[in-house]
Amino acid sequence: MPPKMHLCPQLSDPVMIKIDALPAFNDNYIWQLQDSEQRRCAVVDPGDAAPVENWLAQHPGWQLSDILITHHHFDHVGGIERLKTITGARVLGPAHESIPGRDLALEDGAAVNVLGHTFTVLAVPGHTLGHIAYLQAEQGWLFCGDTLFAGGCGRLFEGTAQQMHSSLSRLAALPAATQVYCTHEYTLSNLRFANAVEPENTEISERLQQVSQWRENGQISLPSSIGLERATNPFLRSAEPTVIAHIAEREGLDQPSPVQIFAALRRWKDTF
Ligand SMILES: [Zn+2]
Repeated sequence: MPPKMHLCPQLSDPVMIKIDALPAFNDNYIWQLQDSEQRRCAVVDPGDAAPVENWLAQHPGWQLSDILITHHHFDHVGGIERLKTITGARVLGPAHESIPGRDLALEDGAAVNVLGHTFTVLAVPGHTLGHIAYLQAEQGWLFCGDTLFAGGCGRLFEGTAQQMHSSLSRLAALPAATQVYCTHEYTLSNLRFANAVEPENTEISERLQQVSQWRENGQISLPSSIGLERATNPFLRSAEPTVIAHIAEREGLDQPSPVQIFAALRRWKDTF
């Protein structure tokens, strides 16, 4: 009699996940990963518990299994304790920041399993010193908190321009199709700035037009992709001749380095 065939779990299809945005505060998104077969979900950066609690109340039988945190700012961690108390979810967060209720302290390069998918942790200091991002390489999902935004990047609250530039360079080197799930709906104002940096860049002006349309219709502008960011995000374009020329002239710099360009862009954006 032939041996009974068993499906090896490693070889079976990956768990199908739907990713949804739960709006919070003025312009935050709490990304939610949903496994409708197991009725389990995970959330990223729940700054407020209410949107997640409301979702769970409207979806009886669903369980919140994991809470993924990118950095310690209140609008990313404010909902953790309440959600952990009512659901018992596991809290994953950066090792080098103070995260309430954290169960798993994550260092650069760590691999964590969430809803049957392996996520790799990337240390991306700059916005804060311990900031991490979560990458699911096979599916091409990047949850990058306040490091990379659509058309922009986070402010330098704790780190240096050098740190942020290398963090963004690391993210920019990911495959073009990688989907970028950042935490804020800042795309429109970011693209207005991008357009001021590179007025001749038609990919930027076309994207600006498209996102303006989406926002007028109340539509979300995310996720973005690494390919789109490489083409339209000035903070990933500090080695582009047009960007170098514009900043060098504006700042009176002679042969500025990519980090100098990045730092000048960030200062300009801070007051744009
Ligand atoms: Zn932040």
